Amino acid sequence: MSNFLFYQYSYGSDNYGVLVHDPLSSKTACIDVGDANKALNELKNQNLKLDEIWITHHHGDHTEGLLKLKQETGAFVYGPKQISQLINGLDKELTQGDEFTFSDQKVKVIHTPGHTTDMINFYLPNQNTLFSGDTLFALGCGRIFEGNPLMMWESLQKLMALPEETIIYCSHEYTLANAYFSISVDPTNQELKDRIKIIEGLRNKGLPTIPTKLGLELKTNPFLRVSNLEIRKNLNMIKETDSEVFEKIRLLKDNF
Ligand code: ZN
Ligand code: FE
Repeated sequence: MSNFLFYQYSYGSDNYGVLVHDPLSSKTACIDVGDANKALNELKNQNLKLDEIWITHHHGDHTEGLLKLKQETGAFVYGPKQISQLINGLDKELTQGDEFTFSDQKVKVIHTPGHTTDMINFYLPNQNTLFSGDTLFALGCGRIFEGNPLMMWESLQKLMALPEETIIYCSHEYTLANAYFSISVDPTNQELKDRIKIIEGLRNKGLPTIPTKLGLELKTNPFLRVSNLEIRKNLNMIKETDSEVFEKIRLLKDNF
């Protein structure tokens, strides 16, 4: 079983797309298509031919280039079961617990509603890699547009149950702004302070902070640390449920 190669490229104001490539079989998949030209450009740069497209959710910054990229490459398109809004061009709809095979390896589908109700994430257990779409960000989580806080919290818990060494590719470079919010609710977290210095260094050089790792997020991302006593003391929410603390942190971030 080979190690896949991951090529992350940026598009739009702050989006990331990723090409997944198996050097053994030469198969290539692309996560989301906000910009077909940027995806085609990356395929050309890496000298790859596209076989599959995996769509996480219906938002335009993830789907606008889908039809063009499909037309130009003939790629097979996986995407979410269409709950909230139609996505044109899907060949196969996926939902919680579905699995498919890419190259010779398993891809597991995790439904993580909250940001949108259709959101799915793609997990490659053999590669320890997750594509989290707009559900889990480095030091953040997606805004809740179609779901509710409890729904989003339950979705995040599905991701928190993955192995700590899981490498996470999310769809946006929001990390620095997320970091300044995180330290406001978790000001005594030394690992968070250390991480912010690293993030500032990367962003000063124009480098991506993505991918991240689940283990690091569990120690520093306030949205995953709602049971932490220091955070709860800061919010004056010692006795509330995890979901209530999550809702409060999400609300504070929306207004930060
Ligand atoms: Zn989105
Ligand atoms: Fe997005």
